[in-house]
Amino acid sequence: MSWPTIPTADARPDLESPYWDEHQETRPPEERREAILEKLTEQVRYAYDNSEFYREFYADVDVDPRNITSFEEFEQLPILRSDDIKQEQKEHPPFGRLLCIDEEDITRIYGTSGTTGRPKVFGIGEDDWERIGEWHAQILWSVGLRPDDRVIITSPFIQYLGSWGALAGVDRLGCTTFPFGAGMEGQTEQAVEWIADLQPDALYGTPSYALYLGETAQESGYDPADDFSFDVMFFSGEPGASVPSTRRQIETMFDCEVIDQGSMAEMTPWMSNSGCEHLKNGMHIWNDIVYTELLDVETETPLDYGAEGVPTYTHLERTSQPMIRYWSGDITRWERHDVTDCDCGRTYPTLPKGIYGRADDMLVIRGKNVFPSQIEDQLHALDDFGDEFRVVVEREGTLDTLRLIVELADGAQTTADEFQDVVRTAIKSEIGVTPDVNVIQQGELERTQFKADRVKDERELAVEI
Ligand SMILES: [Zn+2]
Repeated sequence: MSWPTIPTADARPDLESPYWDEHQETRPPEERREAILEKLTEQVRYAYDNSEFYREFYADVDVDPRNITSFEEFEQLPILRSDDIKQEQKEHPPFGRLLCIDEEDITRIYGTSGTTGRPKVFGIGEDDWERIGEWHAQILWSVGLRPDDRVIITSPFIQYLGSWGALAGVDRLGCTTFPFGAGMEGQTEQAVEWIADLQPDALYGTPSYALYLGETAQESGYDPADDFSFDVMFFSGEPGASVPSTRRQIETMFDCEVIDQGSMAEMTPWMSNSGCEHLKNGMHIWNDIVYTELLDVETETPLDYGAEGVPTYTHLERTSQPMIRYWSGDITRWERHDVTDCDCGRTYPTLPKGIYGRADDMLVIRGKNVFPSQIEDQLHALDDFGDEFRVVVEREGTLDTLRLIVELADGAQTTADEFQDVVRTAIKSEIGVTPDVNVIQQGELERTQFKADRVKDERELAVEI
């Protein structure tokens, strides 16, 4: 096997083919595992040979990083965390000793876009960037994009890798690309007019931006379902595209298909988690592009299909700044391909509910794991919900209690008492815990355009006191 693969220049599949590479995408999982192991062996050896960081990081392991011969050996390598990268880059700025190529051979520099703490820096070499474009094109083919499609990208062209990764894939696929961006004053109003004029077939952005765009279009007198011609929207950056009620809202608003995508910036090609044109919800894991394990949130040991845990990613062909066993901190459940049985025929495992939480956000109430996104999904599906809510977790004696403050819509058909029962039943059926419900009128809770802080865990306070 030659490693890494050299990206093809501009070859594309036959227009009638549903696959970019039928053999790769539909082969039996056992056969794929062999190919993955070969790449893992090469990737770990390469990182060890070219990175002082990895040589130190693997100094005490019981396996030979230059010759990993099984998945069991691979699983003995230590887990890499965000803090490890931050510390390394602080001590050896700007890239840390994770960089395996000369700085002068870096083609692109990106970084994390978080507002707190030191950002992480990503140096990407030319070959890596071309492979990223190639893989994103392959995955976008599974989404249904074809070279004659016109695609608008409505996310900020800043250090955020989402926009640039989408652009690389759409360019490589040969679409007509309209890299519009987002975030400037008045830009969304302009986007509405451009979209009305240019009639793009597809949009990339975030789910919350799509909703904002749709509302802005409505305020300008358009009906996005009738006046725009989107066939598909593909999203990353937020879990919303796999939250069923949010997904339905976007699909109805624009009369289009919604595709959920994305792992994390560190792991670009981040489209290695992606829905396809057939999958109703969730994402396939293209694990021969980025190898993905699901690890137990407490014990950090690998989990079988059917379980819930933390996706932990490994680049398979990265020469510039490879990540090996990178702990995402996200929470998801994975499933065998034949359990999902997607009509596309691909044999990748799936995340049937997408990535639905962060390990940090998970509430454990009476022994049950509860994510705020589950509560959000149930409430959004109720007819008389007034759009805002708060979650309060308290402790009475030794018993945890879940209290919800929920708005009742103006003009609701149900009374506050009836709505209280409806909410209680819906939440109990979803999470197995019966909440106390306080119903208030629509508009009483504060709105914010940023990510709302809807959860208060009063139990921690009690412990501190
Ligand atoms: Zn599929």
